[in-house]
Amino acid sequence: MEVRVRYAPSPTGLQHIGGVRTALFNYFFARSSGGRFILRVEDTDRERYSDESLDDLYQTLDWLGIKWDEGPVVGGPCGPYIQSERFELYRKYAEQLVRDGKAYYCYCSPERLEKLRAEQVASKSEYQGYDRHCADLTDEERAEYERQGIKPVIRLKVPTEGKTTFHDILMGDITRRNRDVSPDPILLKSDGFPTYHLANVIDDHLMGITHIMRAQEWIPSGPLHILLYEAFGWEPPVYCHLPMVMGKDGQKLSKRHGSTSLRDFREKGYLPEAIINYVTLVGWSLDGSTEFFSKEELEKCFRIENIHKAPGVFDYKKLDWFNGYYIRACENSRLEELVLPYLVKAGFIGENPSEDELELVRKLVPAAKERMKVLSDIVPLSAFIFVDEPVVDAAVYCAKGSDADNTLSALEKGSEILLSGLKEGREYGKIEEDLSSLAAGLGVKVNGVFQPLRVAITNSTVSLPLFDSISLLGLEETEKRINRAIGILEAKNE
Ligand code: GLU
Ligand code: ZN
Repeated sequence: MEVRVRYAPSPTGLQHIGGVRTALFNYFFARSSGGRFILRVEDTDRERYSDESLDDLYQTLDWLGIKWDEGPVVGGPCGPYIQSERFELYRKYAEQLVRDGKAYYCYCSPERLEKLRAEQVASKSEYQGYDRHCADLTDEERAEYERQGIKPVIRLKVPTEGKTTFHDILMGDITRRNRDVSPDPILLKSDGFPTYHLANVIDDHLMGITHIMRAQEWIPSGPLHILLYEAFGWEPPVYCHLPMVMGKDGQKLSKRHGSTSLRDFREKGYLPEAIINYVTLVGWSLDGSTEFFSKEELEKCFRIENIHKAPGVFDYKKLDWFNGYYIRACENSRLEELVLPYLVKAGFIGENPSEDELELVRKLVPAAKERMKVLSDIVPLSAFIFVDEPVVDAAVYCAKGSDADNTLSALEKGSEILLSGLKEGREYGKIEEDLSSLAAGLGVKVNGVFQPLRVAITNSTVSLPLFDSISLLGLEETEKRINRAIGILEAKNE
């Protein structure tokens, strides 16, 4: 049997980490088992629908390099793959259930249902929900409602006795008493729109879906879906509800923990390979120890059996660590292109960069690469080249264990060693050695010499390596900034 899986998001918000994880698991499972990955847009909720979310869905999958075998844009044998283009079909199937006695028309007004709910709440009734008022209408009663022009909904007849079990390959058997399944849920609304349950079950069946991998929050819908499959006389697919994605505090991942939308991650400058690698490890592992996986590897080695039962923890720091790794692994030429938009947006270089600006970026990238966790780090790391805002707080120049006095000496003597060394073309390593000896002579730590130089040159305590900074800035500008810093410290020491 060929594996057919789907990612079936509702375009009611931006793609987030949890959704992307669902997409990746489905995609990798399809690829590694020689099956097909289907994209289906579940846009039946027209009130919460937005074009922006749909665009964001396509952009996210494109950016990740996840291609769907069937779905919107590419088409396929079971199309259309956008639910709003399939409404006629849902009506047809719902009406068939009515004819088979598995569902019925309900003409209750919103007012009646509201009153019913209020009564149930007031009487603290154990029984909540629709009272099956229209379950056994006679033909005459129905005809009368129709004459009044009332548009009915179609409700599923949920058995009041017995139990329904569905099997989940991770969670085992999940059983509910039928009387606890929501009483006679609406399948088709009065305006002809299907509800999620109806459209989801019909499409999974018609699209030949063999495995449903989706978030655990859909487990409560499981028994109802099984009842629907039974009502239609269809075989349900295999279920695999995925472990939750948690923050480090054990709570469901949410905006409280940080960004969750992929758009935010893209904008901050995470690389697709880092997101793919790390997000796949949230709730899945090959052998419990291998950490680095390329997309191509995952397309081969992903096994459904290796999905964890326990919730997965999304650790932002760990993602940064992966991203730093992938930035370092990035070809310089690609990295130049990737950082360019950040430099343009910061106003550091023009929208149509000149040859000189491009040359500068070519020098900047290898210097910054080791120190970047996200692409946007290029902006703070390189700001000193483009905007000159000297540090006027003398304390910032002082390394731990140094005071204003020896920091001034370190800067004066250090700059002599540095600048004369550079002018004479001494090796960087040699200059560094001399600066270290200076520190020893002054009785301060190595950083007692390097920190004031770094702050003087780059206006910051975190920056690019010293010699890279100087080479990007030019000797003349470097000298000017060091002398300025000496002035700042002298004024302070007076
Ligand atoms: N449209 C649902 C969602 O947004 C799909 C759930 C499912 O995969 O069945 O998550
Ligand atoms: Zn009714």
